[in-house]
Amino acid sequence: MAKRIHIIGAGIAGLSLGILLQKKGFATSIYERQPRCGGLCVNWSRKGYTFNGCVHWILGARKGSSFHEMWKQVLDIDTMPFHNHEEKVQIELPLKDRHGNNVFHFYNDIDKFEAYLMDIAPEDARIIRLWASKVRLIIRNLPYLPPLWSNNIVRNIVLGIKLMRLLPVGIFMKRWGKVSNRDFAKKFSSPFLRMAVERLYDREMRMTVVMFAQAYASAGVAQYPIGGSSAFSDRLRDEYLSNGGDLHLGCGVKSVVVHDGLAEGLLLENGQQTKADFVVSAADWHWTVFDALGGKYASKSMLDLMQPRKEDVFWSYCRLFIGVNRTMKEYSHFERYPIPEFSLPDGTLIENLEVETYNYDSALSSGKTTMIVNLPTHEGKWWIDLRLNDRQSYLDAKNEVERNVMECLSVRLGDDWRSSVEVTDVVTPATFERYTSNLWGSSQGWTPPDDITKKTAMRYTLPGLKHFAMCGHWTVAGGGVPIALATAYKVAKMLR
Ligand SMILES: Cc1cc2nc3c(=O)[nH]c(=O)nc-3n(C[C@H](O)[C@H](O)[C@H](O)COP(=O)(O)OP(=O)(O)OC[C@H]3O[C@@H](n4cnc5c(N)ncnc54)[C@H](O)[C@@H]3O)c2cc1C
Repeated sequence: MAKRIHIIGAGIAGLSLGILLQKKGFATSIYERQPRCGGLCVNWSRKGYTFNGCVHWILGARKGSSFHEMWKQVLDIDTMPFHNHEEKVQIELPLKDRHGNNVFHFYNDIDKFEAYLMDIAPEDARIIRLWASKVRLIIRNLPYLPPLWSNNIVRNIVLGIKLMRLLPVGIFMKRWGKVSNRDFAKKFSSPFLRMAVERLYDREMRMTVVMFAQAYASAGVAQYPIGGSSAFSDRLRDEYLSNGGDLHLGCGVKSVVVHDGLAEGLLLENGQQTKADFVVSAADWHWTVFDALGGKYASKSMLDLMQPRKEDVFWSYCRLFIGVNRTMKEYSHFERYPIPEFSLPDGTLIENLEVETYNYDSALSSGKTTMIVNLPTHEGKWWIDLRLNDRQSYLDAKNEVERNVMECLSVRLGDDWRSSVEVTDVVTPATFERYTSNLWGSSQGWTPPDDITKKTAMRYTLPGLKHFAMCGHWTVAGGGVPIALATAYKVAKMLR
């Protein structure tokens, strides 16, 4: 008889794991608290408008990175429509470049980007060339990142020899590991370029992360799924079901049943108990370790994360969804620009607006457009507590966010735009927590440590607990959809 594996959570990790295990001949069941699949990776519908609730890009969408090989094992990704943007983002600055333009273009194609930088700041030729050369170094090695080990010794030896070519990437990671975009910006003498590099992201970001993202974008291996996040997660759900998976929606798990150090099944929120040969949690790591298992199997380093620092948890968002009865074709898909600063009710200072305009995806709202304003915040707990303790103040806080953002947008886009707005809605960290149970509404799990080559407290298994594993974006610091997949892939390999 096939081994029974019970999986908690039908996000990208849980669904991917379910598919991989079904294909290996296991009998899997997925228990998902919500009435739909996808976890964070879903769309939201409001009065005829569909809002992309999550991914802007999926790493491995197209050939050229080993993530593509992994996706191919869970769905027919090559038949899925994706969109590749010319620019990652347009950043408006309170300065002009030497041609009199105040918009910085963060082009995806590294050759085009390098030529653009050389044109606006020829005095910085040396550092521009160095930047581009590091991105090209990563591009050359993308097919091996991450390395795909198999159970075949000969194949692994061949791969090991091929991986020696990754040595220069390793040296680059070690040397540049601590350099942030703000440190790097100081190397430029052009004031425009210096400020642009400082503001590449809304937050300070390590240059290794910036350059990896550039390499993926330039190679075209990371793209946006047409139809948004649900178009992607729905394909995984269908794949799971067509492989014989057993999906229980609206069926939350209360705890993992353990006897003598062996996980034996699940206690569901409806009081029923399941029996399994192996249990995998693809749900929130914090909930799994400290609630579902009562903290009994946490290692010393995990116990330190029982009450994490705010900075240890990847930020959440307040997001304003706007449905506009216009195509908005003249606007960039992603812009960041300075505004008269205001604070979110949680105290987070907002100095720039980051605006997504989905004018390139008619599958979302044909003839109309959806816009999303992102307001990242580390104060997820503040929002969750407020909603729990004082619903009226929570609603007032949401209204305040909407009022402030709409005021800034109206100044920029004009009264005509304002009058074509048909729908607005604010989601907060409390929304993300309510619908996915992620700690503090985190968007991607744990933030990566300062030194990304260093080991963290995260593990796939827990000391003293057998027949149990974890996967999902909390298992490897940094998170994201490809990590959700890669961790599922790893757990599927562990099971025989
Ligand atoms: C606004 C936003 C933008 C993002 N953009 C990108 C992007 O462009 N690219 C990218 O790669 N990543 C992006 N991410 C991150 C990415 O969405 C996540 O890292 C990824 O979807 C996590 O998948 P997961 O399966 O590990 O976890 P989750 O999506 O959190 O899934 C966990 C599932 O477990 C279920 N669950 C929890 N507790 C229980 C329980 N007790 N019983 C039963 N079920 C339970 C939840 O309901 C959920 O469905 C973004 C995230 C956000 C919020």
